[in-house]
Amino acid sequence: MTITPPALSVFETLESEVRSYCRGWPAVFDRAQGSHLHDEDGHTYLDFFAGAGSLNYGHNNPVLKRALIDYIERDGITHGLDMATTAKRAFLETFQNVILRPRDLPYKVMFPGPTGTNAVEAALKLARKVKGRESVVSFTNAFHGMSLGALAVTGNAFKRAGAGIPLVHGTPMPFDNYFDGTVQDFLWFERLLDDQGSGLNKPAAVIVETVQGEGGINVARAEWLSALSALCKRQDMLLIVDDIQMGCGRTGKFFSFEEAGITPDIVTLSKSISGYGMPMSLCLFKPELDIWEPGEHNGTFRGNNPAFVTASAALLTYWTDGQMEKQTELRGEQVERALLAIIEENDQVGLSFRGRGLVWGLEFTDKPRAGAVCRRAFELGMLLETSGPQSEVVKLIPALTITAEELDEGLRILARSVRETA
Ligand code: PLP
Repeated sequence: MTITPPALSVFETLESEVRSYCRGWPAVFDRAQGSHLHDEDGHTYLDFFAGAGSLNYGHNNPVLKRALIDYIERDGITHGLDMATTAKRAFLETFQNVILRPRDLPYKVMFPGPTGTNAVEAALKLARKVKGRESVVSFTNAFHGMSLGALAVTGNAFKRAGAGIPLVHGTPMPFDNYFDGTVQDFLWFERLLDDQGSGLNKPAAVIVETVQGEGGINVARAEWLSALSALCKRQDMLLIVDDIQMGCGRTGKFFSFEEAGITPDIVTLSKSISGYGMPMSLCLFKPELDIWEPGEHNGTFRGNNPAFVTASAALLTYWTDGQMEKQTELRGEQVERALLAIIEENDQVGLSFRGRGLVWGLEFTDKPRAGAVCRRAFELGMLLETSGPQSEVVKLIPALTITAEELDEGLRILARSVRETA
């Protein structure tokens, strides 16, 4: 029987059973700065989860906080529906000048609603409307969100079951390396597309994550992504890259697909786009796809103006000089070295790892051990979470602004947690 500390009992009594992260991290958090959180009892925790990728620039980043405070103090618009505001104009211009134009990306910007799943719904709707087809292809172990459209292209059986109705118009295909390199890429997919007897309705689009964040840190190779992009063109399907978790610099470059040299037709962004952990999401698409009627996709909370302010500040602070990308690369190498050492310490038995930029996964053959490692890490003062269909992967996704020393400290806690759960 687990005993609930009194400070947590109100959550247990009043809040729904659906709550999840608070079960793995049983503390009442009060303040946070950079890569550290503090609970109400004065304990400090090193954050290796960064709000599931929403805090790439750390908690309460001082530069973004200053911009936000100034904006609030001068009574800048807070709630703006989709009205034109100075904050939104500044964001659009900054996004164009700092992110899109230097990468030669032609996208129009849609504000589809506050969270990631809203962006995915908008992307799916638009793809279906443009192509006049219902079916969308997704990949094994994909995660795209909890609303019904996004859930229909999500792999996880437990999450899918929560829908309570049939999830239709989505077809899963094998992600990169699903058959451990034994099957030629896209062999099955292209055969189905070309065979009039296959039973696969011609898809409107393919939706893909370049690195599957929730699905177990599965990293697609650049050549797999570029072959997928070519396949989509050949077969007249739109390519949607869901960059909600891996975008905003998580893998090094601002967009995770840049490395593959592709230009997706539609891109979804959320999580760290506001930079401050505030709800904001974007659906980006090539201008010729912009066939929406005014108001055809709507929503009350599409104009979170304080988020536009921190988003602009984040882009101007971190994305004008190439330093962020270089630092992420260095930090990633630091993680890779530490994970190699953990594998060697375990004689390469029962453990493997993979990652890109500053997102890494440590997979355990003994699946429940990943959860045990996270629990031990919490006792040692660090927030770590699992990922993968059976929570068999320890996921490392610290803030991109984490210092080399903080990262080192966390990696030592990880090594100790692995050792102590052997
Ligand atoms: N797409 C991806 C790739 C995600 O990782 C997530 C969330 O983890 C989502 C969509 C859904 O975003 P949200 O939880 O903000 O709705």
